[in-house]
Amino acid sequence: MAELRVTAVHKSFGEVRALRGVDLTVRSGTLTAVLGPSGSGKTTLLRCIAGFEAVDAGEIRLDGHRIAAPGRTVPPERRRIAVVPQEGALFPHLLVRGNVAYGLDRRARRTGRIESVLALVGLAGFENRMPHHLSGGQQQRVAVARALAPHPPVVLLDEPFSALDAGLRAEVRQDVRSALHSDGATAVLVTHDQAEALSIADEVAVMHDGRIVQSGPPDLVYSAPADPWVADFVGEAVWLPAEMTGGRAHTPLGPMPVVTTGHRPPTRAGEVLLRPEQIEVVAPVAPAAVTATVVRRDFQGHDALLALRLTDGTAVVARIFDPASVHHVIGGEVGLRVRGAARAFSSPHRTP
Ligand code: ADP
Ligand code: MG
Repeated sequence: MAELRVTAVHKSFGEVRALRGVDLTVRSGTLTAVLGPSGSGKTTLLRCIAGFEAVDAGEIRLDGHRIAAPGRTVPPERRRIAVVPQEGALFPHLLVRGNVAYGLDRRARRTGRIESVLALVGLAGFENRMPHHLSGGQQQRVAVARALAPHPPVVLLDEPFSALDAGLRAEVRQDVRSALHSDGATAVLVTHDQAEALSIADEVAVMHDGRIVQSGPPDLVYSAPADPWVADFVGEAVWLPAEMTGGRAHTPLGPMPVVTTGHRPPTRAGEVLLRPEQIEVVAPVAPAAVTATVVRRDFQGHDALLALRLTDGTAVVARIFDPASVHHVIGGEVGLRVRGAARAFSSPHRTP
C-alpha cells in the first residue's frame, strides 16, 4: 500500500512560479499520468515528490507520513521512491544484470529478483547483454526494471518514452504499464503527449501553469473536460456557436441535447463542444442531415479527420473510420448528423 497525496504545493525558482498550489492524489497501486504542455511544471512536481527539490508551501504525504513540507524534507534516499529519467541513463560499462542489481542488497540479488523483474518488462534472458547492444526501447525497459527491482512503493517516470519512435513507443508503454501493475507499484508518469496519457493511465491529471486543473479517469477527462482549455489540450475539439433554449443547444449543425460543465448554468449564448467522433458523415440527402463541403482530409492510418465547412461558413471536423472511402472527396458534398450531447461551459470559450 502506498498512497501519494500532494496538497497545495508551491515551488518557485526566483520569479518563476513553477508550481502554484498543486493538489494530486495517487491511489495505491494505480498509474497516474500528469499531462501538460512543456513548461507547465511536470518535472518540478516529480522532483518535489522525489525529494530533489524542497517545497515552498504545502505538503506531500506517502501513506500518511509527511515526506515534504516547508522546513521538513525527508532526503530522497529515505523516501523509497524510484525515478526513471527521460533517457534511461543506464551505466554503460555494466551488463544489464549489473544495472538492474544496482540498488539491490546482496541477499535480494540472489533471490532471482533480477531475472523476474527483467521478465516483467519483457526482457527475460537479457541479463548478460551490454546496454549498447540493446535497442532504445530495450534500454528504456532495463531502466524501468532497475527502478522496480527493489520493490519501491512509488515509481516516478519523467517522459520515459519520448526518445522512442512511434511504433516502438506504443509497445514499450503497454509493457511498462503491465510491469508496474503486476508489481503493484504506485506510479506517476509525466508526459506532454495526450494520446500516451489517455492510453496508459488509470487516472489522468491535467497540468496547466503550475496547477492540476482536472484529474479523473481518461475517458472522463476526454468526454467531460473541466474547462475549454482542457477540452482543447486533451483532444481534437469542435466548437460550435450555440443558442441555449429549452435545455437544448441550437447550432449550425441543428438542435442537440446539451450538458453543462461548471457550477453555474451558462448565462449567455456561447459555444458548445463536440468531439469529432460525435459527427457522423452520411449521404447529403440523408434525413435530418446538415449539408457540408469536404475541405481537407487528414489521414491517420486507422482513421481520418475530415475538415468540413457548413453552408453558413462554420468549420467542423469529423472523425471517419473508413478512411479509404472514395465518398469523402475534397470539394464534395456530404451530410452531417450529430450523436450524443454537446458540452457547454459556464465561462465563454477563449482560444489560449
Ligand atoms: P515541464 O516539465 O512541464 O516542461 P518544468 O517543471 O521543467 O516544466 O518547468 C516549469 C517552469 O519552471 C518553467 O518555466 C521552467 O523554466 C522553470 N524551471 C524549472 N526548473 C528550474 C530551475 N532549476 N531554475 C529556474 N527555473 C526553473
Ligand atoms: Mg519536464
